[in-house]
Amino acid sequence: MTVINARSVDEALTALRDHPRARLLQGGTDLMVEVNLQRTSVQDVIALRQVSELRRWHVDEQSRAVRIGAGVPYAELERNPLALHLPALAQAARTVGSPQIRAAGSLGGNLGTCSPAGDGLPVLSAMDAVVHLRSATDSRDVSIHDFMLGVKRSARRPDELIVAVTLPLLDGFQGYAKVGTRNAMVISVASACLIHDASEGSIRLAYGAVAPTVVRARNAERWLAANAPLRGRPVFDRALASEFGRRAAEECAPIDDHRSTARYRRHAVAVLAERLLLQASGYGASREHTT
Ligand SMILES: Cc1cc2nc3c(=O)[nH]c(=O)nc-3n(C[C@H](O)[C@H](O)[C@H](O)COP(=O)(O)OP(=O)(O)OC[C@H]3O[C@@H](n4cnc5c(N)ncnc54)[C@H](O)[C@@H]3O)c2cc1C
Repeated sequence: MTVINARSVDEALTALRDHPRARLLQGGTDLMVEVNLQRTSVQDVIALRQVSELRRWHVDEQSRAVRIGAGVPYAELERNPLALHLPALAQAARTVGSPQIRAAGSLGGNLGTCSPAGDGLPVLSAMDAVVHLRSATDSRDVSIHDFMLGVKRSARRPDELIVAVTLPLLDGFQGYAKVGTRNAMVISVASACLIHDASEGSIRLAYGAVAPTVVRARNAERWLAANAPLRGRPVFDRALASEFGRRAAEECAPIDDHRSTARYRRHAVAVLAERLLLQASGYGASREHTT
């Protein structure tokens, strides 16, 4: 096995061009499991650990957006100051694996694997994130909704590197919740992220592990917009939240597998959506409340 230690994005892209079958390695918390279980055989590896550009993030106050490098580990996403800007992403990050996994694992790796159970992905979907891709010859920005194509299938070309993700800075409630067989070190049986954009007056809900990709509950979102005022500080009663959850569950396409049954997953989505909406109820549309 050849290991190329890239020190910049340009070096990584040149290596990827020269070794088209090479695998990219960030934290290795997905890739090395695949290698150890002999589910994949790897000839060449391009290690990204020393590419400092991928481990940076910054807030652009002018465009009201946060750009997060693909290699920023969960351990950084889960803490302030980043958690202050993106509370749902911080909550999702805190649910990933163990402290060791969170120290190494990254959002770029979550996108690279593109599992419907990836904890970062419902947040990216609910926030309409944009994925920045680069190859040795070009670069492009892809909406998260076009990036995720199926179970562990994405729109990334083999010669492309995920460089960063951009998420909007929003006022209003943000929440992430997941159901698993225990509280820690667990892959989601079902997960959901709910984002309230107080200025636009919209509620967005995305769920994970209940369809081949992370999906948005578009019908439930539309139904809620038609039945409740969503600007400022909306207040939702239990009956409305319960109906929202029921409608959200109708939109998913879960399967029976070794982690759960489709029936339980559908039930879990309804409960998660209802709870998150109730948490959003009366929530202050101000930054100081979003920690
Ligand atoms: C014990 C354990 C517990 C876990 N628990 C969870 C959990 O609770 N929730 C969860 O979501 N995940 C979990 N995972 C999976 C894993 O930690 C995450 O998916 C993590 O985000 C992977 O990031 P990484 O940097 O380690 O990726 P890597 O393993 O380095 O890479 C993963 C894939 O992405 C590709 N890749 C990496 N970086 C890039 C890039 N910049 N551009 C293009 N492709 C790239 C790699 O080639 C590879 O195919 C767990 C894993 C383990 C081992």
